[in-house]
Amino acid sequence: MKIVEIRELSVPLEGQISNAVVSFAGHDVSLVAVVSDVIRDGRPVIGFGFNSIGRFAHEGIIGNRIAPRILAASPDSLANGKGFDCEAVYRTAMLNEKPGGHGDRASAVAAIELAFWDLNAKLADEPAYATIARKFGREPVTKVRTYAAGGYYYPSDGVGRLKDELRGYADLGFDAFKIKVGGAPMSDDLKRIEAALEICGDGSRLAVDVNGRFALADALAFAAAIEPYELRWYEEVGDPLDYELNRALAASYAGPIATGENLFSSQDVTNLLRYAGMRPGRDIFQMDAGLSYGLTEFGRIIDLLETNGFSREYAYPHGGHLINLHIACGLGLGGCESYLGIFQPFGGYSSECAIENGSISPAEFPGFGLEAKPELRPFLDRLSA
Ligand code: MG
Repeated sequence: MKIVEIRELSVPLEGQISNAVVSFAGHDVSLVAVVSDVIRDGRPVIGFGFNSIGRFAHEGIIGNRIAPRILAASPDSLANGKGFDCEAVYRTAMLNEKPGGHGDRASAVAAIELAFWDLNAKLADEPAYATIARKFGREPVTKVRTYAAGGYYYPSDGVGRLKDELRGYADLGFDAFKIKVGGAPMSDDLKRIEAALEICGDGSRLAVDVNGRFALADALAFAAAIEPYELRWYEEVGDPLDYELNRALAASYAGPIATGENLFSSQDVTNLLRYAGMRPGRDIFQMDAGLSYGLTEFGRIIDLLETNGFSREYAYPHGGHLINLHIACGLGLGGCESYLGIFQPFGGYSSECAIENGSISPAEFPGFGLEAKPELRPFLDRLSA
């Protein structure tokens, strides 16, 4: 059994939305197909993956460096029983790469490594969460907590639009929400929070995300202003690598802090745990396999949390899409976010994934079930042709 071809398609994200730092107009994502030599129903079995959302596509890194290494490896070195050894895929992808500097290559490798998990699940004819749970020695769960991640800044904005958006999520079965802050004057953001709370009903149902915008003084001033709301969490408040800022914030803000979506390696997470003052049983971790070399490295990150006294139930990966839903169920994480109608064609789930009372269940299609998402299907078809 071997891989005969690795294909990459750079797919533009739809929509004109912004957080406090980034406009997503012009962003794209690498969708990857790993084509095996296993033929079923006259067609090759193909694994699909993508590099989450927010770090652009990596046609060059994938096409010039990562895919050629994997295709050049001996088939035996990548095989594992009736599937492929994802740890060996990761090791092979990283041949002759220096340590450190976990930037774009981390999500380029992730897109391919995750496609191998999809392929393995299809070869075993089971949903990916079952494959993931077995590989990591866990009982799979078929339902995890979720929340509607939205509340972006739009070109024509207003608290009325924000309330309508959150009301729409509540109508779909969500009972927890997240909105962006830090991209407007504090007085405007506080009005956004108060408008959102009219829909959420309680601070414990509303998280706010700064996307790394604040320096320490702004972080502390905003913290003091929002502390009375007792919000669900205060996310990525300063630069993701400014562990001292996070430590100072954790020392003064009583509510939960969330961070980690822009840490791409177990070494970066080691430093977070050493220096950033994260508090077990309170603070939230958001590392995302699709941005951090894939599920092999992500599994090491979850191990790190647990060996340092943190629970995986406080891991809520960044990226509200099908791949992270299967990972959250397979690894028994606290939950995953949901992108509803944003970051298409990747964001959100297929209609077969049931959302009820703030929880979501994956469908039972083989693999991650990307083929069942109508927005993605045309791109998968192009990669399959
Ligand atoms: Mg975030």
